Formats: sequence, structure tokens, C-alpha cells
Amino acid sequence: MKRILIIEDEPAIRMALEDDFTFEGYRVDSAATGPEGLEKAVDLDLDIIILDLMLPGLNGLEICKELRKRDIGTPIIMLTARSQEFDKVLGLELGADDYITKPFSMFELHARVKALLRRSEIRGHQSEKDKIHIGPFELDAAKYLFTKNGEPVQLTTIEFDLMKLLMQHAGHVLKRDDILNSVWGEEVYVTPRTVDTHIANLRKKIEDNPGESHWITGVRGVGYKFNSDAPLQNLHQT
Ligand code: CA
Repeated sequence: MKRILIIEDEPAIRMALEDDFTFEGYRVDSAATGPEGLEKAVDLDLDIIILDLMLPGLNGLEICKELRKRDIGTPIIMLTARSQEFDKVLGLELGADDYITKPFSMFELHARVKALLRRSEIRGHQSEKDKIHIGPFELDAAKYLFTKNGEPVQLTTIEFDLMKLLMQHAGHVLKRDDILNSVWGEEVYVTPRTVDTHIANLRKKIEDNPGESHWITGVRGVGYKFNSDAPLQNLHQT
């Protein structure tokens, strides 16, 4: 059973959400103020948090920031009102995973919640395989370390996540949309073009000859593949 925390000060909305998520089979906790919400978010073992932006005591962005500062990675959906100035990029930067504007339909909220839960399950599953070794490359997810022939290669966070995904699925073509959803999540401001840009940067860092990609190959119109076999050129070397 998934456990959800609803932090919302408007009683009518809070109660409607409590009833609805209970009915849908979630274990529901709720809070009506910022400080109470933060306390529960820290103490309870939650799967997801629905967090209102304007709250007494401590606002939603402050709660988000505080949780991420404490390394609490529970997925968060922010609730905002159309009349409120809400900088969605700032919200996502501070650690919210998604946001939804009031008034919203329960159908839409459930869809967002389910999408986030699915994503966090994929992430949880991925973290089980901490070390991946293919050819000259080794990726250590726990240490956030990527090496080629034992030498560390500096990757950005996105490049690291991308590399991890490609290596986990070595030998299989990953569709651009799947790469987007796994690495960036279903955020609105990234496009498939973003994937291409980061793949190009990654190739420059890992390929012997970036002009001829042996390890990461593109499949036109579909996506990318990490080749699990050592390229022939490498076999002839050393
Ligand atoms: Ca409010």
C-alpha cells in the first residue's frame, strides 16, 4: 500500500483529497500547516507528498528545499493556484518533481501521482545495481564515479544518469522518450533534442574517436544504444 502525505491548509480541499486517496487504496496522512507538514514529511516513511504552495508557517517551496537539504528524496507534487506567482523552474530546482494548478481534476492529479510513483520505482530499482562494468568502462552509482580504463571521466549529473541508463540496457535500443522520462522525468521543458545534445557531449567524453561512435550508437528516428561488445579497433590495440 502506498503512503501519501497531503499538506494543504484549506480544509475542504484537504478533506476531499484525504477521502479520495483513501478510497483509491492509499494510506493517507495529512497536515494543515507548513511546520506540521515538514515534521510529518521527515518522520513518516512516505511514497509521495502532495504539497500546497501557500501554507501558514512555512510555504511549500521552503518545505521542498528543507526536505532535499536533508536528503529526503520523496517525490513531491506541488499544488499552486492560478492567481499565485509560481516560478515552476524554481520549484523544480528546489526539488519538486511536478506541480499542478488549482482548480484541477482528481483524474489529472491521480495520473500525475501514478506517473511519479512509477518513476520513483524505476529509480529505486536502478539503485540496486550499483556497479556496472562493460568494456573499459566502470560506473559506480553509489560513489557517483565513472571511469574509463581506470581513469575517472568527469560527467555532469545528467550525463552520469544517462550513462547509467545506457549501460544498464547495454545492447538494447532505448527510445528517446524513454530516455527523457527516466533521466529527466516528465518535466515539460525538455525535448527529445535535449537527449541528442547530451548524448553528443557524452560521446566527446567517452569515445576514443568522437567522430566515429563505437560505444554509443544512434538509431535514426528511434533512439540510442550502448554497445556491450568491445569495438574491433580496441581489440587490435594493446
Ligand atoms: Ca494554501
